[in-house]
Amino acid sequence: MIWFATPDLYVGAGRCRLSKVGAGRRPPPARVRVAVRLRPFVDGTAAAGEPPCVRGLDSCSLEIANWRNHQETLKYQFDAFYGERSSQQDIYAGSVQPILRHLLEGQNASVLAYGPTGAGKTHTMLGSPEQPGVIPRALMDLLQLTREEGGEGRPWALSVTMSYLEIYQEKVLDLLDPASGDLVIREDCRGNILIPGLTQKPITSFADFERHFLPASRNRTVGATRLNQRSSRSHAVLLVKVDQRERLAPFRQREGKLYLIDLAGSEDNRRTGNKGLRLKESGAINSSLFVLGKVVDALNQGLPRVPYRDSKLTRLLQDSLGGSAHSILIANIAPERRFYLDTVSALNFAARSKEVINRPFTNESLQLRVLAPIKLSQKELVGPSEAKRARGPEEEEIGSPEPTAAPASASQKLSPLQKLSSMDPAVLERLLSLDRLLGSQGSQGTHGLNTPRRERMVLMKTMEEKDLEIERLKMKQKELEAKVLAQEAVDPKDKENSSPAVLRPLARRTVTVAKPLKKAVVMPLQLIQEQAASPNAEIHILKKKGRKRKLESLDASEPEEKAEDCWELQISPELLAHGRQKILDLLNEGSARDLRSLQRIGQKKAQLIVGWRELHGPFSQVEDLERVEGISGKQMESFLKANILGLAACHRCDTS
Ligand code: ADP
Ligand code: MG
Repeated sequence: MIWFATPDLYVGAGRCRLSKVGAGRRPPPARVRVAVRLRPFVDGTAAAGEPPCVRGLDSCSLEIANWRNHQETLKYQFDAFYGERSSQQDIYAGSVQPILRHLLEGQNASVLAYGPTGAGKTHTMLGSPEQPGVIPRALMDLLQLTREEGGEGRPWALSVTMSYLEIYQEKVLDLLDPASGDLVIREDCRGNILIPGLTQKPITSFADFERHFLPASRNRTVGATRLNQRSSRSHAVLLVKVDQRERLAPFRQREGKLYLIDLAGSEDNRRTGNKGLRLKESGAINSSLFVLGKVVDALNQGLPRVPYRDSKLTRLLQDSLGGSAHSILIANIAPERRFYLDTVSALNFAARSKEVINRPFTNESLQLRVLAPIKLSQKELVGPSEAKRARGPEEEEIGSPEPTAAPASASQKLSPLQKLSSMDPAVLERLLSLDRLLGSQGSQGTHGLNTPRRERMVLMKTMEEKDLEIERLKMKQKELEAKVLAQEAVDPKDKENSSPAVLRPLARRTVTVAKPLKKAVVMPLQLIQEQAASPNAEIHILKKKGRKRKLESLDASEPEEKAEDCWELQISPELLAHGRQKILDLLNEGSARDLRSLQRIGQKKAQLIVGWRELHGPFSQVEDLERVEGISGKQMESFLKANILGLAACHRCDTS
C-alpha cells in the first residue's frame, strides 16, 4: 500500500514560512515544548450519545472531569492544545514546522508523539494518504528547503539522509536492515550520539523517502497479530539528517538531526492482566517512557542531572532533547470514557501546570448521591457480591442510572465521570493507592492531592517561604515592641506600666495583638475555666482614649488616668507562669486532639509531640518543645507567645 500517494495534498501550505535562519542567533532555551491533541470520537461512540470526558478551553488549556470529585474538573495548561476539530496541517504548522529551520543551523530537533494506544499517535505522526501527518509534511518541507538552500551558487551544499529504527524491549533494531540485530548506541568525543552500523539512505526527493520508508514500515509489522501488539509496544524512530558543507573556505560542515518518533502506547498494561512476554514488554516500555518523563521533567526544571542514560530511548535522544536542541512532545488523548485513566496519566505526564476548578455539573451531579470515593472503593475492592451485602438501602441507589440531565448548557457539556461503581476494580484500586500514597506524603489538602509531584513540591516550598516570612515579621514586631518598652521605661509617665513581664503590642490598632485575641478562644476549655478561677489572674487591657469604652481594667483599683493613646496588654508574671505550667501539663498529658486545640499546633505537630513524649518521657519545661524533630526554636517561641497571650485573652473573654 502506498501511504503517501497524494503528496501534493500537503505540499505548499505553510512551507513558504520555512526559511533559513541566520546562524548568529542565540539558541532559545532547551525546554521541551508540550502540545496536547485530542482526537475526535471514533467507532461511532459519539453517535451512541457518549459525552466526552475531556474538552478544550482555549488554544493552550483543557479540562477533564475529576474522578475524586464529580463537582470539579482539572484544568491543564500546555504550550498548545489542539481540539478534536484540528487538522493535520494545524498541528504541523503550529508546533512542528517552526522547529525545522533550526536543522539548517546545525541544531537538532525531535518530535515525539506520546499517549495511550488508540489515542492518535500514528495518525498524528504518519497520518493517511488523505490526511498526511507530521512525518510526510516535515519530509516534504525539509527536502524542498534543502533544494532551495543548497542549490548551485549557494554557499552551502546540503544533503539529506534517513534512518529508521525501532526500540523494542530495550533493543535497537534497524528497520532498513532487519537482519542486523540489536545495535549499540555510542557517544563521540564531541557529545554526538551515534549508532554504528545503522543504515543511512540518502534521499533527494519524497519518492526516495517513500521507497525506503514504506518497506521498512512493513518490516515493523510482519504478521497480522504482531502488527497491533508490537507497533503499540515499540518506539518507532525516524531519523533524518541534514548535512551541510560550505562550498568555499573555510569549508565548514554542519549536521542537524531530526528525530520523528511514534512512541509506544503509554497505557498501563498491568491493568489488562498481561503475563509472560507481554508483561516483560510492558515493563520495558514503561521504564523507557518513565525515564523519558524524568528527562523531560529534568530539562524543564533545569535540573543539573538529566537521566538520559537510564533507557535506550533517552540515550538515543541525548543530543536531541535539551542542550541547543528543539523538541516538541505531542501528547495524544482520546475523548472516550474508557480512555479516562490513561488520559489522566498522559496529561499528568505532559502537564506543566494543573489546577482544580470547581465546576458543579448542576443538573447531573447534584442529584446524584455521590459516595465518598474511599467508602465506595472498599466495597468495590471486596468484590461485587460482598459489596452488595454490605451496602445499605441508601447506597443501593448509587448503582442506579444517573438522573437524566437537563439540556446541557455551554458550561455543562462536559460529562460527569464514569461512576466509580461501574469502574474496573483494578483501575479503582490503582487510583486509590495513588491517592493514599499522595495522602501519606504530606498534609497539603485537596490541592496537593490533585497536583503533580513537582507542583506539590513547589507549593510546599512556597508555603515554607510564607511561614518563614511570617516568622520574620513576627520577630520584627517583637523588636518593635521591645523598642516601645524601652522608650516607655525612660518615660516617667509610663513608669507604673513598665514591668519585666509586660507584653506590649505595637501602638496602632491595626497591628495590635489585641485584635487576634478574639480568636484566641481556641485555648482548651479546662485552661480557660481554671484560669478564670485563679485568684492571681490579672490582665489589664487599656484602650485608646476618646473611644466609647475609655478604659477597661479588670482590677477595679486601676486608676482611669493610666489610659494612654494605644492598646496594650499586661499580663502578670504569676499568670504567665501559670499559663506555662498549663501548657506543660497539656504537652505531657494531652492527647493529639487536645494538643491540636493549642494555637500553632496542627495534626502533624500534635502527632510529633505525642511521638516524642512516648520516646523520651515527659517534657520538663515548655522550651523542650524545641527538641521535637520538626519543631524549630522559632516555632517553639511563636507557639509559646501565641498560647500564653491566648490564655490571657480567654481569661479576658471569660471575665468581661
Ligand atoms: P495510536 O497510534 O495512538 O495507537 P492511531 O493513530 O492508530 O492511535 O489512532 C487510532 C484510530 O483513531 C485510527 O483509526 C485513527 O485513524 C483514528 N484517529 C486518530 N486520531 C484521529 C484524528 N485526529 N482524526 C480522525 N481520526 C483519528
Ligand atoms: Mg500507533
